[in-house]
Amino acid sequence: MRKQVAVIGGGLAGLSAAIRLAKQDYKVTLYEQTAQLGGKMGEIRQDGFRFDTGPSLLTMPFVLDELFTAAGLQRGDFLDLVPVEPMCRYFFPDGTRLDASHDVEKMRAALASFSPPDGERLRDFLAYSRKIYDTTAEVFLFTPIQEWRKLLRWRHVPTLLSLPAIDPFRTVHGGLARFFKNKKVLQLFDRYATYNGSNPYQAPATLNIIPHVEYGLGAYYVRGGMYRLVNALEELARRLGVEIHTNTRVSRILQQNGRVAGIVAQGETITCERVVCNADVVTAFNELIEEAPRRRSQLNRLEPSLSGLVFLWGVQGHHAELLQHNIFFSRDYRGEFEQIFQQRRPPDDPTIYVAITNRVDAADAPPDGENWFVLLNMPYLAEGQDWEAAVPQMRETVLKKLRDHGIDLSGRITCERVLTPIHFYEKYSSNRGSIYGISSNSRSMAFRRPANRSRDVRGLYFAGGACHPGGGIPLVLLSGKMAAELLMEKDR
Ligand SMILES: Cc1cc2nc3c(=O)[nH]c(=O)nc-3n(C[C@H](O)[C@H](O)[C@H](O)COP(=O)(O)OP(=O)(O)OC[C@H]3O[C@@H](n4cnc5c(N)ncnc54)[C@H](O)[C@@H]3O)c2cc1C
Repeated sequence: MRKQVAVIGGGLAGLSAAIRLAKQDYKVTLYEQTAQLGGKMGEIRQDGFRFDTGPSLLTMPFVLDELFTAAGLQRGDFLDLVPVEPMCRYFFPDGTRLDASHDVEKMRAALASFSPPDGERLRDFLAYSRKIYDTTAEVFLFTPIQEWRKLLRWRHVPTLLSLPAIDPFRTVHGGLARFFKNKKVLQLFDRYATYNGSNPYQAPATLNIIPHVEYGLGAYYVRGGMYRLVNALEELARRLGVEIHTNTRVSRILQQNGRVAGIVAQGETITCERVVCNADVVTAFNELIEEAPRRRSQLNRLEPSLSGLVFLWGVQGHHAELLQHNIFFSRDYRGEFEQIFQQRRPPDDPTIYVAITNRVDAADAPPDGENWFVLLNMPYLAEGQDWEAAVPQMRETVLKKLRDHGIDLSGRITCERVLTPIHFYEKYSSNRGSIYGISSNSRSMAFRRPANRSRDVRGLYFAGGACHPGGGIPLVLLSGKMAAELLMEKDR
């Protein structure tokens, strides 16, 4: 008889695990509490505009390709990945701009326009970033490191012996300051720490791996919208026989004698011995698992990642000065992160990210319009915050900053949707509204991140941004892979 697995959550990590398990002949049933699969990778259509509500950039595309291969298919038959070039236009408070390019010579020249010595140091910096990737990726990204037997393999010994080379003792900012001196160049590279929701002034310099991931391995958009990726994964899952229930919330993971015994979905008890939980692992211990109080309090002490405030704006007119990806930096980046992570309040002067996909997909907006996805880094939910008051305030701040850069949206926003940290908590059950899971603001986090196999309940596995190896599309897909593989190993 086919072995049964219940997957709780139809985010990217849940879909990744479900596809792999179904391909290996498990009978997989997936329960998603919302109406749409994809979790934080969502999509909204309104008044002729199409908006991605979550990710706007795909990195490490080979991770996605491998998922299709594991399912016996070719990614190219389902999805067209469009390289993003220039990668991003950066607007600085002093009125200067910089277009970031994958072309090292172009990027060198762009940095040199701010500071000739910093331009000259770009190649050395990218070599350092690549070295961190080459040294760490196999162990920290592709291995479930909490499984000691897997960590302590001979092929991992060189990595473990070369830990100082991966710069764990400096901060991201400190690591960058060895190469760059110009404030704007530093700010540009500091920003990469936010790709996994962390603070560049606290997170270890090992996160300086991310520029190599983007500049060296490429950054992509999915033609037709990022959400086409979810459509494709759903199709894979259905083809392989995954039974999918949307609008179905799981309220309990049942256990007996330390083993999974079933789940409760919409009040109905379903018996099963294997569960992959794609619900945020911290929320799962708070709401779905009654036992294991020590683990619960341990997990609640881990610092969540950044949250975000998103404005989805249907805008009238065209703004030739903007690219598909744009950043409007704050004046005081350190102060911005201090307000977000230490004071846990919306920053006075936020850095603003604007993505416009109808630059590539004309159908995403009416002919005389643009679909703006505007993202501001925000603190995770904490006491004393007032999001009802913060939203109009932040909206004004954004519009003013855009005006300062010569972009006047007065009377031009024809439709609007707003997603606050409360939305990410209430809709997707993300721990305290975090959007990448657990932050990497401390050196030991790579090891303290929740494991993909439960230490408390046999038969329970975790996949998602809040557990190993972390947040962002490629990493959560890998997380689903690790959860599925560990589950299958136990059955062998
Ligand atoms: C605004 C924003 C911008 C981002 N930008 C990028 C980017 O450009 N590039 C990038 O790589 N990453 C980006 N990310 C991060 C990326 O979206 C996430 O890391 C990733 O999508 C998380 O996937 P996941 O499967 O871990 O979790 P989720 O997407 O949260 O999926 C978990 C799913 O489980 C469901 N669920 C939870 N509890 C239950 C329950 N009890 N019963 C049933 N279902 C349940 C939820 O509804 C959800 O669908 C961004 C995220 C946001 C929000």
